[in-house]
Amino acid sequence: MNVGIRNREAHASILKMRIDRKKCCYCGGCVGACPLNALELWETELVVDEDKCTDCGICVKCCPVGAIEAD
Ligand code: SF4
Ligand code: SF4
Repeated sequence: MNVGIRNREAHASILKMRIDRKKCCYCGGCVGACPLNALELWETELVVDEDKCTDCGICVKCCPVGAIEAD
């Protein structure tokens, strides 16, 4: 299973945000909570569009299992 926030083109971690692979259950809550539709839940990945993301932190706060952490 490959869980992470990635740049779609470069596939590099961005925003200094981390996903705890053991906690994330692919509920999609963060995807729906993002006001800019910057998150997409793919089959095996949580992907963020860095062109849309403003690093607001809402997804970090909304995760029911605390799977997203920001530095
Ligand atoms: S930090 Fe804000 S804009 Fe970026 S993915 Fe999370 S909710 Fe969306
Ligand atoms: S809200 Fe949390 S548990 Fe749900 S998909 Fe997002 S990171 Fe994973």
